[in-house]
Amino acid sequence: MQAVVTHGPKDYRVETVPVPVPGREEILIEVDAVGICASDMKCWLGGALFWGANGSGGYVEAPVIAGHEYSGRVVALGDGAAEKHHVKMGDRIVAEQIVPCGECRYCLNDQYWMCQRHYIFGFKRQTNGGMAKYNLFPANAIVHQVPESLTIGEAAYIEPMACAWHAVERGEIKPGDTVVICGVGNIGLCMVQIAKLKLNGTGTLIALDTKPYRLELATQFGADVVIDVTQENATQKVRDLTDGYGCDVYIEASGNPAAVSQGLEMIRKLGTFVEFSVFNEPATINWTIIGDTKELNIHGSHLGPGGYAPSIAALANHTVDVRPLVAEAFPLDRFDEAMAAALSGDVLKTLVVPV
Ligand SMILES: [Zn+2]
Ligand SMILES: [Zn+2]
Repeated sequence: MQAVVTHGPKDYRVETVPVPVPGREEILIEVDAVGICASDMKCWLGGALFWGANGSGGYVEAPVIAGHEYSGRVVALGDGAAEKHHVKMGDRIVAEQIVPCGECRYCLNDQYWMCQRHYIFGFKRQTNGGMAKYNLFPANAIVHQVPESLTIGEAAYIEPMACAWHAVERGEIKPGDTVVICGVGNIGLCMVQIAKLKLNGTGTLIALDTKPYRLELATQFGADVVIDVTQENATQKVRDLTDGYGCDVYIEASGNPAAVSQGLEMIRKLGTFVEFSVFNEPATINWTIIGDTKELNIHGSHLGPGGYAPSIAALANHTVDVRPLVAEAFPLDRFDEAMAAALSGDVLKTLVVPV
């Protein structure tokens, strides 16, 4: 089969590789389509998180088949796989992006998304990703059923929607809150929709970005106020909207280090700051604000625990909508063009479709 294989920064190759054979409790799926994630772009660009500061010691184990945002159809089942995962041939399914070890302190404590081994599809050799005709779900994969009604683009959005879901839950939004989503790319636009559901007609939802077309979508998805941070003083505007107090919840989803200090400035005392995005450079901040000045709650957010089931349900019943976000679908052998389109920032979700 053809696959997009990650070898190094800016070195992803379309190669012919063997079709995996499912072993005990493993599942082989035929992949529908794969979304290109901001993390894929940062990895492709050579981010230190992935490759280490000096080109070694990073998270990626190359060579590995790329892609972690995908669903597919069951085409082969190893011994015991049907019973273990409650699936049958032909089912449309998705696996959570992390494959927990089941043995470390976090896994044993029901905190599997922080598993010490941390095998994530598309980044570790034991968990090749979805940019191939077929993909293997290992025995410890966490599998969910995908409704037939979802388009391939919607199904590829389950993973990012689940991540957005978890991040918004980490914000512990209360009725009437002023919530700022900083950065309305793919995940931020999911967060806007989920935060809108949580606010349930109360409060004020504010979206920040640098791109007008994204802010327009945020408005379409229910943001009450949108601010282009290149045109307006966002901190002042948020203070003005809140009688000078600042926002209750600030969710950082831009990946821009400047957005961290901006958030610390515009959040109110005792507010909750959710850090979601991945930075390719360190953020320099006034750490004193967190304690002495505002006594903030700083909540990290990683992956999508608890977010898959509600995301699948919300996509299926259209309480969230990602259809306006799905851009072009490129055949796998045109991966270079797909990555260039994603990197341009002019479109939202670029898909890769196996051939
Ligand atoms: Zn992702
Ligand atoms: Zn573990």
